[in-house]
Formats: sequence, C-alpha cells, structure tokens
Amino acid sequence: MHELSIAENLIEMLEENGLTHHFKKVTKITLEIGVLAGIESSSLYFCFDAVAKNTLAEGAQLVIQSKPAIGICQHCQQQVSTFGWYEPCEHCGQLCVKILQGEEMIIKSLEVEN
Ligand SMILES: [Zn+2]
Repeated sequence: MHELSIAENLIEMLEENGLTHHFKKVTKITLEIGVLAGIESSSLYFCFDAVAKNTLAEGAQLVIQSKPAIGICQHCQQQVSTFGWYEPCEHCGQLCVKILQGEEMIIKSLEVEN
C-alpha cells in the first residue's frame, strides 16, 4: 500500500522535527497534496491514524488540502489547468502539456505542543 509508506515517512519526518525543534506532541498537521500525486486521501487518513499510534503524532488531526495541477503547453506556451498527463492543451488542442505543479506533497502547517 502506497499510502502506508507515505504515512510512515510522514511520521518519521515529524519525529525528526520534534527532536530538532523540541516539541513533544503534534496536534494538527495540514498537508497539501497535488491532484496528480496519486495519493488517495481517505486511505492516507486511515494509514496516518494507524501509524501515528504511540508516536508524538498520536491523535493529531490530519487535514488534507488538494492542490490543482498546472501545466504549460509546449506548443502555444500558455498555462493550462490540466488533470492528467495525456490531456490535450485547452487552448490549441496539442498533446504537449508539461506538468509544472500537482505531483507533490508538502507539509503546509504543523501545530505542536511542548
Ligand atoms: Zn497549447
């Protein structure tokens, strides 16, 4: 399961952050996930809760915000709001859209307690 390893990495990152920034508990975490990242929010919520048990993030509220994908057409050089890799450009219809944003996952904010 893809989401399980993402949740595990996330917890590892939080634990490292906890050591560096001296906090002992995470109460809320907000993630921004690109629509093309291939991450299923519902299963990430589930995996996060499971993996967070007995860590500093146990019981933390996970908020997932999706981030739209943005591409640039390499034919007409216009920006397009794309939904996949094989979609034609909405301006000229050519199949040469390069994805600029939408495949990433970032931690947008963290709420912690000492
Ligand atoms: Zn185009």
